[in-house]
Amino acid sequence: MALLQIAEPGQSTKPHEHRFAVGIDLGTTNSLVATVRSGVNETLPDEKGEHLLPSIVRYLPDHEVVVGQQARLSAVDDPHNTIVSVKRLMGRGVVDIKTLGKQLPYEFADTDSSVPRIKTCAGNKSAIEVSAEILKALKLRSEQTLGNEIVGAVITVPAYFDDAQRQATKDAARLANINVLRLLNEPTAAAVAYGLDSGQEGVIAVYDLGGGTFDISILRLNKGVFEVLATGGDSALGGDDFDHAIAEWIVQEAGVSVDAIDASTSRLLMQKACAAKEALAEVEQIDIDIKTDVFSWTGSLHREQFNQLVDPLIKKTLMSCRRALRDADIEPDDIIDVVMVGGSTRTLRVRELVGDFFQRPPLVSIDPDKVVALGASTQANALAGNDPDGEMLLMDVIPLSLGIETMGGLAEKIIQRNTPIPVTRAQDFTTYKDGQTAMAIHVVQGERELVADCRSLARFELRGFPPHVAGAARIRVTFQVDADGLLSVTAKEEMSAVEAHVEVKPSYGLSDSEIEGMLRDSMEHAMDDKDARSLREQQVEADRVVEALDAALVDDGDELLEAGEKELILQARAALVVSRNSATDAQQIKQAMEQLEKASSAYVARRMNTSVQKSMAGHKVEEFSSEESDK
Ligand code: ADP
Ligand code: MG
Repeated sequence: MALLQIAEPGQSTKPHEHRFAVGIDLGTTNSLVATVRSGVNETLPDEKGEHLLPSIVRYLPDHEVVVGQQARLSAVDDPHNTIVSVKRLMGRGVVDIKTLGKQLPYEFADTDSSVPRIKTCAGNKSAIEVSAEILKALKLRSEQTLGNEIVGAVITVPAYFDDAQRQATKDAARLANINVLRLLNEPTAAAVAYGLDSGQEGVIAVYDLGGGTFDISILRLNKGVFEVLATGGDSALGGDDFDHAIAEWIVQEAGVSVDAIDASTSRLLMQKACAAKEALAEVEQIDIDIKTDVFSWTGSLHREQFNQLVDPLIKKTLMSCRRALRDADIEPDDIIDVVMVGGSTRTLRVRELVGDFFQRPPLVSIDPDKVVALGASTQANALAGNDPDGEMLLMDVIPLSLGIETMGGLAEKIIQRNTPIPVTRAQDFTTYKDGQTAMAIHVVQGERELVADCRSLARFELRGFPPHVAGAARIRVTFQVDADGLLSVTAKEEMSAVEAHVEVKPSYGLSDSEIEGMLRDSMEHAMDDKDARSLREQQVEADRVVEALDAALVDDGDELLEAGEKELILQARAALVVSRNSATDAQQIKQAMEQLEKASSAYVARRMNTSVQKSMAGHKVEEFSSEESDK
């Protein structure tokens, strides 16, 4: 399997000349920039000493743009011009935004372009432009701190980001006038920060619990290569849910009716809950004091009570871990290291339960907010040529299975999800009808058995191959996914070498929650799907039998059949058609098919005889004798 090299040719440089390169963690909630200077890898603070830059951009009417903490303060008062969580929109098409859009406060401009634009007082802005503002702020911060231009940046992206999302991230960097040395997967960056790339070979889990999202990645380190074995998680689970659980507990303890809680009370409750949660990382018990127009309450939250509140949420993350391990075909005790990322991993209960699950204490010595940026910076430093040993290899995986539609609307998987890329897989298919000279190829992505439940990626046709008897043609369909995740499909009729080819972008426009949902569906419907598949197969089989019978009847039905016999066959045929269209399980169709076979068995035998006679007509018996004697 080919590997991707991180070190680019021609990027090494003369000794003694330090070229500043930075690592950027472009996060949903917060972003950071880090660099290696005087041999020390560190994140860079703003003039107030803050390392985290809130990923929030506010547009003002005079074309001024405010990024970070100052923009955050206006999020409540000026929601239409203050863009938060823009990362969720990166690489998304207009159609995807329409579904996401209901949860977003922004208005989207009507546009003919495939890229959606948010209406602001400074004009319509795409997610790429908004992200570029965050990147510009970080670039400015680095150049001011370092007193030097930067030669480039390594920017991190989630491991499950598809091609469109990665491309959008690169475009944002280009707008910000940043030379992208490499896009790096976030979990890989975290592992690099712990120096695991030069350590023991083995499988590593990266557990990333942030404010609103959870990601689990299973990586294999092999000869300095990080292979992503599996990714999973929950795009709607994080520290915010911990806050919710505490807020609900307070309301209950205070004996207030939930209906009495208005928006501003709820905001205050969440703030108090969040502060209590963060404090409990340091202390056993925390006093809470709430005064609102609706109610007043004082009490204290003990760690034990807190643990009870958040345990169900942490267990949910462990279920995702279990699924990712299963996808990777790995047992929890095969994991040699667990890397903790994200602010919520400061919660001690999270560390405890994650440690129990993987049967080893997780790595927590590096600040979980900074670990991704620090890993990116290590890579950036190597790519800029400052570290002669800093070469690294990387691999990625396919997030959802790729396949094609076969008869009866069934999806045949050609490349299973989580297969490392680049990869090439081929499968042979055959024709369904006698004399078929063309074949429609429908490329789909998803885990379900029926095409209707999968995502359609592309359609094309293979035409002009010579006619064969049904089932005799060999059509080889080859799926090739390159290192950037781009899929191309080739179909070739083997005997005539007629070929057709199409390039598709897999998972373009699939949202994480869609991917999540598709995976969940496939679990829930595994049994239904199996039944549905065998029903469809039986229906296809029934169609084939009816079609063959009809062709035969036209051919020699009148010659070979007596009137009564033909009637019985037609009755059985009608019964089969009814069953094929109305049966809810495969067995019923099978029985109808057996009835038809019985009714037509004498006719079939007669046909065989005449066909043998016909094909022997004009030949001498000796021509056939050698074959006969072989039997
Ligand atoms: P994201 O990856 O979504 O940008 P972060 O990794 O920055 O998010 O994590 C933010 C979350 O971490 C918030 O829910 C915050 O309350 C939580 N957090 C920060 N410090 C602590 C702490 N000491 N204990 C528990 N949770 C914390
Ligand atoms: Mg994060």
